[in-house]
Amino acid sequence: MAIERRRHRIEGTVQGVGFRPFVYGLATDLALTGFVLNDSAGVLVEVEGAAGAVAEFGSRLATEVPPLAVVDHMEQAPLDPIGSAVFEIRISDAGGKVAAAITPDVATCSQCLAETRDPAARRYGYPFTNCTNCGPRFTITKGIPYDRPNTTMSSFAMCEQCRAEYEDPSDRRFHAQPIACPDCGPRLRLIDCEGTELAGDPIEAAATMIRDGHIVAIKGLGGYHLSCDAADESAVAELRARKGREAKPLAVMVPSFEWACRLGDTTPDETAALASRRRPIVLVRRRSGAQVAPSVAPGNRHLGIMLPYTPLHHLLLAAVGRPIVLTSGNLSDEPIAYRDDDARARLGRIVDAFLVHDRDIHLRCDDSVVRVFDGREYPLRRARGFAPEPVTIEPSFVRPVLAAGPELKHTFCLGAGRRAIVSHHIGDLESYEAMTAFVEAVEHYTRIFEITPEVVAHDLHPEYLSTKWAQDLGGVELVGVQHHHAHIASCLADNNRTDAVIGLALDGTGYGDDGAIWGCELLICDLAGYRRAAHLSYVPMPGGAAAIREPWRMAAVYLHAAFGPAAAGLELDFVARTEERWGPVLAMAERSINSPPTSSAGRLFDAVASLCGLGDRVSYEGQVAAQLEQVADPGVLDAYPCSVSAGRIDGAELVAAAAEDLERGAPVPQVAARFHNGLAGALVRTCEKIRSDEKESGPVALSGGTWQNLLLLERVTSGLERAGLEVLVHHRVPPNDGGISLGQAVIANARSAGR
Ligand code: ZN
Ligand code: ZN
Ligand code: FE
Repeated sequence: MAIERRRHRIEGTVQGVGFRPFVYGLATDLALTGFVLNDSAGVLVEVEGAAGAVAEFGSRLATEVPPLAVVDHMEQAPLDPIGSAVFEIRISDAGGKVAAAITPDVATCSQCLAETRDPAARRYGYPFTNCTNCGPRFTITKGIPYDRPNTTMSSFAMCEQCRAEYEDPSDRRFHAQPIACPDCGPRLRLIDCEGTELAGDPIEAAATMIRDGHIVAIKGLGGYHLSCDAADESAVAELRARKGREAKPLAVMVPSFEWACRLGDTTPDETAALASRRRPIVLVRRRSGAQVAPSVAPGNRHLGIMLPYTPLHHLLLAAVGRPIVLTSGNLSDEPIAYRDDDARARLGRIVDAFLVHDRDIHLRCDDSVVRVFDGREYPLRRARGFAPEPVTIEPSFVRPVLAAGPELKHTFCLGAGRRAIVSHHIGDLESYEAMTAFVEAVEHYTRIFEITPEVVAHDLHPEYLSTKWAQDLGGVELVGVQHHHAHIASCLADNNRTDAVIGLALDGTGYGDDGAIWGCELLICDLAGYRRAAHLSYVPMPGGAAAIREPWRMAAVYLHAAFGPAAAGLELDFVARTEERWGPVLAMAERSINSPPTSSAGRLFDAVASLCGLGDRVSYEGQVAAQLEQVADPGVLDAYPCSVSAGRIDGAELVAAAAEDLERGAPVPQVAARFHNGLAGALVRTCEKIRSDEKESGPVALSGGTWQNLLLLERVTSGLERAGLEVLVHHRVPPNDGGISLGQAVIANARSAGR
């Protein structure tokens, strides 16, 4: 029998993810000898034995990797047999630096879940059960290397049984840093708002409170959540009132798949997204008659649903027996509470009890949110389960880059080598808390990823706190990046492309290089630069930010642009409702007093939504714009006219057509659809014109917050494809401002490489 020896080198996210026990199991299965170890490059394996077994080892190594491993590169080479006697896991090469990547938090695996449900298992009913394939990672990591002393599990001493599992290479918990059991690990308590522990089993007692209509704070992986019975209208309305959240939809956690299907018309792709180990909130079409309180997602055809992702959530949901609202633990738009004392102080007036534990959260991390478009995940908020997994890009960063990000939906991005590490969602940088969270997170990321930025990219908006922060740094090269160029570059990097594209950047607000507020821009661009080829015609935004809070102002301005003084004669509910207030607003616009010109797609949507009666005031930007998608009838295919001349898209023409249609008594779902179709048609025609005028043969990239609107996305994508154009959309980072930092980073890299 021929004896062979072979060396395998594996690179990627292969440390701290159970790779060595996996190799150990495979090698011993095949009766091979040799060793496996972690080193600075990844994992190194040598196997020796019968030629057939060595070959089988190679092919299974390539196909059966552990669930959390991400293999970037694998190579192998023959060696001379040395007659090794056993297979062993060698202690990592002490001299070499071990590059264990910090991986995202992972939903409970099926084996751990089964243990918590098995009365004979020692982890029966234990809410902190985890293993190498699942459990907390990023949110408990304090420093590197990723070892128990550098996590918030450092204060728990392993019991003998846990220690034995931790040290046994054949065990699923071999080197599982957060390993714990009821004897040695974190403990759950239910306390009232004074901090007094309540009697009984904490999970059963919390479940009873929720079923009885109370609001309970739950300490999760990345922070505190607020929960209540999702079908109980008075509880949900009470939660909204106490939290100070007027209109934004609330997420629902369901006990099981069956429940997900009872609440939503889930497609197979949405089901896959729900079940993925990242366990995001997935926006799915709400099933008619679904037993969900109206206040959960008012005016919305979609519901944000997620499955339990920790044993605590599994146990609690099983005890409640029906869906619960699970929304971030904060007051209105503050960052989510994650420290125990802070949570008690901030949430004490909102909740009736706290379900808490003594494993500290080191880093706050919200739930992620995705939609599914065209069979693929389309992220809207990238946080738990995604961060800090790098977005790999081509070409590499020439020098280490930090991108400071935007103002709203803030993330930042660290770039080095081929890795673009987009931070978890930080929130809106409008409060001291959010700004502190940003600065602390930058410090944490640069430390655990050992990246010292030499180039810092920032938005051009001089008033963004992230811009000011970057400009105060000193000692680094600064690169200012236009907001919509950053959007398109982020879509390019998301798709690993570097070619010249036509970028369709549509959003609410971005600082244009002429000082205007941009937001519907057709850019001819690559990573290094851009030229504005076309845009939505400017209209004034009377009152500036007030026009964002009061969409009726935009409707009045657009009506006036379309009809002049005759607008007041239109027989519309909108006119009857608001006309008395037009005077000062239109005068302000006419005299250009506090009325910056804007080409924002978001404001055009606001105007049409307000005309349709969806709301004259909003509690957050884009509220009625999003509702316009929700009410639109996707079966309506005809479109309002919208002319484009000299690179100006005439939004007023769309508004005029909508107003006349409403005057004729057209139903709102038809008006909303015809508006979507009209705008989509104008965008597609403009792209075709740019292609023929400018001899642009590249793809069209779609980015910006407006592309969270999947109806518009579908109409534009199919129109462009019919015209023979290739379309790039987001898959790895959000199209909204949450993806801006990635674009800033690759633009800074392209500019700094071009020098
Ligand atoms: Zn597990
Ligand atoms: Zn233990
Ligand atoms: Fe934007």
